Amino acid sequence: MARKDDCIFCKIVAGDIPSDVVYEDDRVLAFRDVNPMMPTHVLVIPKEHYDNIADGVSDEDMVAVMRAVGEVARIEGICESGFRMLSNTNDDARQSVHHLHVHVLGGAPMNDGDPSVQ
Ligand code: 5GP
Ligand code: ZN
Repeated sequence: MARKDDCIFCKIVAGDIPSDVVYEDDRVLAFRDVNPMMPTHVLVIPKEHYDNIADGVSDEDMVAVMRAVGEVARIEGICESGFRMLSNTNDDARQSVHHLHVHVLGGAPMNDGDPSVQ
């Protein structure tokens, strides 16, 4: 498994930093965000290190990550109510951890700046 020494998510994959794991398979780890923005806020990452979604991700890892997003949503019980997945990439999107990750967000209505939604 390719690993970057200074990458905190590689350290989480290796078990050097603890995480609250929601789902795991041979290619993917999904764990709760340490600073949740929503009742459900899970990060889905490939165990292999890629800087971001545009960093030559293998077909196998791409499929595994996307499948895991669905698994996480099922585990969290947010398929029917709805959820959002997003992946910030580089500076303009304010990516802060440069190991590909997909945020899975849900568990409450998102107001998206609409004051009529709580
Ligand atoms: P980004 O800003 O790169 O899209 O998202 C990085 C996310 O990783 C942030 O939401 C941040 O809260 C989360 N995060 C950063 N360090 C850790 C950590 O050590 N453990 C966990 N569980 N989440 C982390
Ligand atoms: Zn990494």
